[in-house]
Amino acid sequence: MSAVDITITEVGPRDGLQNTKSFMPTAAKNAWISAESAVGVRQIEVCSFVPAKVIPQFVDAEEVLTHANGIPGLTPVVLVPNFRGCERALAAGARRVTVPISVSEAHSMSNVRKTTAQAVEDFARMAALVRSQAQAERAQLVGACSTAFGCSLQGMVAETDVVRVAVALREAGADAISLADTVGYANPEQVKRLFRKVRAAIGEDFPIEAHFHNTRGLGLANALAAFEVGIRNFDSTLGGLGGCPFAPGASGNVVTEDLVFMFESMGVSTGIDIEQLIAVRNTVFAALPEAEFYGHISKAGLPKGFQPLSRAA
Ligand code: ZN
Repeated sequence: MSAVDITITEVGPRDGLQNTKSFMPTAAKNAWISAESAVGVRQIEVCSFVPAKVIPQFVDAEEVLTHANGIPGLTPVVLVPNFRGCERALAAGARRVTVPISVSEAHSMSNVRKTTAQAVEDFARMAALVRSQAQAERAQLVGACSTAFGCSLQGMVAETDVVRVAVALREAGADAISLADTVGYANPEQVKRLFRKVRAAIGEDFPIEAHFHNTRGLGLANALAAFEVGIRNFDSTLGGLGGCPFAPGASGNVVTEDLVFMFESMGVSTGIDIEQLIAVRNTVFAALPEAEFYGHISKAGLPKGFQPLSRAA
């Protein structure tokens, strides 16, 4: 296997399951996480530490994280919506924590009943909590600028607002920044422009990650655009799981197996075994009979003579 050029984070067990109607049993979640990590996925967002009364799907967050923490070579990621969620996540042994901050004021008020500035203040408290951990086991904190490319409530989101929030999150103690197209509004030109602006403002060497949805069919194009301006960390979901509850029938996140195929066919190594990944998709599909799955490569098959760069050990 060649050296890995990019990191693909599977976010299906969190972003995908957040919108599925039926509860996925804990054992099935754990089996999914194990299976995907066995085919070379090194980072998986495994759950959200949101109150179970808000999203019942994540009632087993502690159990799922404990399972994921026991998988050699895997870095589990967890999402936390607020300070209380961060406390719970750290107590459960979280090593990488993503905190979404809505750049859109309307989205922020609707989601967490806080202004964006108040959410950034909360983030600073979480950063202080994380920094109170012993250095050796200190968790990594990712500040995710959600609705960075537009918002279904507010419409346009000013790029100057995204840059300001990204800088504020870095100053508040983020270890990395993510720009998220939460509602699938982004286009490739906008992606290049915004990542360049944010990078110029927060520093060339500071890690920036990309989170795209395929709601309007531009997920892969946007991932490629981000890659072309130097981004090397991408979120996606197996089978594109995670359709938007406000846009019935619209597809979900960028499809992990299509993203792996695109990069590997370009000569960019992902470390993920594409053939075995497609087999994992079928297993997860069987465990979620009501969910909608998307994607092309799993249906069309790999091109004849295709040579993947990455093979599972
Ligand atoms: Zn998302």
